[in-house]
Amino acid sequence: MTSRMTSLQDRSRQAVWHPCTQMARLDAVPPLPIAHGEGPWLFDTDGNRYFDANSSWWVNLFGHSDKPLHDAIKAQLDTLPHVMLAGCTHEPAVRLAERLSARTGGALGHVFFGSDGASAVEIALKQSFHSWKNRGHADKREFVCLKNSYHGETLGALSVTDVQVFRDAYDPLLLRSHIVASPDGRLGNEAEALAAMRALLAERYASIACVIVEPLVQGAAGMVMYSPGYLKGLRELTREFGVHLIADEIAVGCGRTGSFFAWEQSQADWPDFLLLSKGITGGTMALSLVLTTDDVFAAFWSEDVTRGFLHSHSYTGNPLACAAANAVLDRFDAGQLDANRAQAERLTRAFAPLSSRVSHLRQRGMILAFDVPEAPPRFAEAFHLKAREHELLIRPIGSTVYLMPPYLIDDATAAFLAGAVTATLNDVLA
Ligand SMILES: *Cc1c(COP(=O)(O)O)cnc(C)c1O
Repeated sequence: MTSRMTSLQDRSRQAVWHPCTQMARLDAVPPLPIAHGEGPWLFDTDGNRYFDANSSWWVNLFGHSDKPLHDAIKAQLDTLPHVMLAGCTHEPAVRLAERLSARTGGALGHVFFGSDGASAVEIALKQSFHSWKNRGHADKREFVCLKNSYHGETLGALSVTDVQVFRDAYDPLLLRSHIVASPDGRLGNEAEALAAMRALLAERYASIACVIVEPLVQGAAGMVMYSPGYLKGLRELTREFGVHLIADEIAVGCGRTGSFFAWEQSQADWPDFLLLSKGITGGTMALSLVLTTDDVFAAFWSEDVTRGFLHSHSYTGNPLACAAANAVLDRFDAGQLDANRAQAERLTRAFAPLSSRVSHLRQRGMILAFDVPEAPPRFAEAFHLKAREHELLIRPIGSTVYLMPPYLIDDATAAFLAGAVTATLNDVLA
């Protein structure tokens, strides 16, 4: 009896254009028709369950149907679901901005609201350029990103993204950015990467507005991890040459790497911009935030309207999303980072036995990844399909398998995950 399941799949094929999907592969890889979620588990319309090992594209922090989160949204729904943030303000947005600012010790005390990660990237790029322009440096209009970086897929964000499959088709449309060698802990090349950045900034700083970076982990590149020392070096270089630094914490923020902001581990001065999205609402509402400094903010302060930052989105500062984000911050105020440390150790222990079979088993907090040597063609697709048979929802990137699970890892869960990943690997490589 698979009628309900197949009928939803058929209707979806007809009417829904799925993201990040070659629709012609939908017959080979039919979308799972998900009926509901509970904790780390997703249930399909036939009642089969799957562990959401990638937190539904890295957004879900506390599992599905989290009661405190849902209660916060429901309470806000009955009070004020939405009001525009130009000409009006409201408690959930103000409180969220204050709390995030406090988490940077006030260094990033001005918060602009966006709708999703890509819009946060657009906002930061525009603010960086416009603030230089307002200060009489209109020539500082070039952007710098790292090799294999991912910052989203709208045209501006794609201009600072270096993932070929997403970028190449649109290359003629994109802004010309500088793409600089990136650090990779597997290669131990942090010093060379900083030297390459120094060479570029020394030559072009007068034309460069900002450098954008994914702190500690380049996610879409295949969970490429590198040392916090690189960030400290990058902060020093961008200060030396008078260039803004944007920390894109859309994926790595909210406790994912062991600290609330991944940046904290660098022990460097704060960046000029810090971006949050994905986990900030725990996988419930679309929201992003751009945090910036007094200095950037001051560049827009004028009686002249056109020197202001006139950017907006219809749902800017949506109260429901802000209420969800405030409920997420409540969890961190109540010790979530300590819980994460214990959970990360459980993952380390459970996956240790795999290290002899795979290469570069690596981990940064609640992100664990490894590479599969000599992976067969279409490995990611095959692994994803086989994993479903082991109650696991997971989407490798190329030949890199990674877990970025909800913060709900007890000993049994860690053992289940290691067992399911190992069994899937055995199936796929058999
Ligand atoms: C996901 C992601 C984005 C884009 O966010 P969307 O909400 O998908 O637009 C930008 N930067 C990083 C590092 C991301 O992981």
